[in-house]
Amino acid sequence: ASFENMGIKEDLLRGIYAYGFEKPSAIQQRAVRPIIEGRDVIAQAQSGTGKTSMIALTVCQVVDTSIREVQVLILSPTRELASQTEKVILAIGDYINIQAHACIGGKSVGEDIRKLEYGVHVVSGTPGRVCDMIKRRTLRTRAIKLLVLDESDEMLSRGFKDQIYDVYRYLPPELQVCLISATLPHEILEMTNKFMTDPVRILV
Ligand code: AMP
Repeated sequence: ASFENMGIKEDLLRGIYAYGFEKPSAIQQRAVRPIIEGRDVIAQAQSGTGKTSMIALTVCQVVDTSIREVQVLILSPTRELASQTEKVILAIGDYINIQAHACIGGKSVGEDIRKLEYGVHVVSGTPGRVCDMIKRRTLRTRAIKLLVLDESDEMLSRGFKDQIYDVYRYLPPELQVCLISATLPHEILEMTNKFMTDPVRILV
């Protein structure tokens, strides 16, 4: 397996190699292509499998950097994970000049407003702060085409279910969804039924 035959753009490949990756991990081999092709994907995977890098890679691939609007929204259960995902996107996407912002609690709202008004392609955040920014109309949702729900079981056990559904209601109807979860309890399957169409299922 190699990154070369995955349909990844040239400048993104450069970023992946510069970051130090040589070969895709199992989840990267199996999840990147269907997401790039526009399918909804449910990936059952633990942390440490390369899932954060998988998200970063696909996000960089699907974003059109000539359009300065939020095109991808990633929701994570913790500030640390949301920031980590933002960092990996900025690192891998260095050569495509991607603009990303971590929208997380505990940082000033003013910083969110400044960054979002300047214009970013990707927002990686926690459900509470993201929901807040959408309701203030600081985070515009009309160009969002991909929603990534990372560590979904963890988001539910932290009580973010209502906020996730709230955010979802503000997103365009033609939305692609990628859900990642270590476990798939009933509440997660309910979400996949509501948010997704004919999803590809991947177990790593
Ligand atoms: P992640 O689950 O994406 O946080 O990845 C776990 C660890 O594996 C991190 O230190 C990544 O930098 C590393 N990693 C992820 N994907 C690859 C890859 N394709 N090749 C080498 N290291 C990787």
